[in-house]
Amino acid sequence: MIDDASPDMGFFTDVTLCIGCKACEVACKQWNQLPSDGYALSGNSYDNTGRLSATTWRHVDFVEQFDRINPAESRWVMMSDVCKHCTHAGCMEACPTGAIIRNEYGAVYVQPDICNGCGYCVPACPFGVIALEPDQGVAQKCTLCYDRMKDGIEPACAKACPTDSIQFGPVEQLKERARRRTEELLARNVPARLYGVDEDTSVGDLNAFFLITDRPEVFNLPPKPVLPSTYQPVAYLSGFLATAALAIVAMQAFRSR
Ligand code: SF4
Ligand code: SF4
Repeated sequence: MIDDASPDMGFFTDVTLCIGCKACEVACKQWNQLPSDGYALSGNSYDNTGRLSATTWRHVDFVEQFDRINPAESRWVMMSDVCKHCTHAGCMEACPTGAIIRNEYGAVYVQPDICNGCGYCVPACPFGVIALEPDQGVAQKCTLCYDRMKDGIEPACAKACPTDSIQFGPVEQLKERARRRTEELLARNVPARLYGVDEDTSVGDLNAFFLITDRPEVFNLPPKPVLPSTYQPVAYLSGFLATAALAIVAMQAFRSR
């Protein structure tokens, strides 16, 4: 039943607490019955799952920076990535069938029985999150554990996180907690900053936001995510101007006959 009074729910992910155990990835796969990514290592990283995909809805990025000249400067930072459940979601805007909706918890949710597998949502996501699952031919991504939330249970990934790097709750409360945590870390000279909160971007605030300790690109996050529809006015204008120019050329050619 839709409860309009429910506050938006989401995640605050703090990279300073992540130990890279991947318990969140495993819990997500177990709960959602998603296939494993196998045991092969890429040879480039200790991360064997690579990236978010149609069958990996949580992914722990390993930021491995080894400084051979000055080994003391080497860093190994981890961040558990997920769908951002954007305030202005590109995937939802692009979906022609209405399969992608915002549910009563403020989460962006794909209804698999309505998705026709056109894939328009895939390039529309500024974060490269949503993907088509080839066997079923439908778009898939994190559901914010909609089924668990309806039973009053927190999402499997947050429940499994042993360090509380992934915190789940009402988004506004999480933002307050995140701002306090950022101030605390800055006072200890940790270069902390929030990503997806209080930023001026066309996707708006993210319901799954992050505390990071470096530039967003270091964590595979776009520095300024852009909603594809913001390009529409320019695209329409250039289409109109091109049509008008062709019409003028055609008229002149007709007159000079
Ligand atoms: S991160 Fe991508 S898939 Fe998730 S809500 Fe935003 S646009 Fe949609
Ligand atoms: S909220 Fe649920 S579906 Fe989303 S990443 Fe966590 S465990 Fe997976």
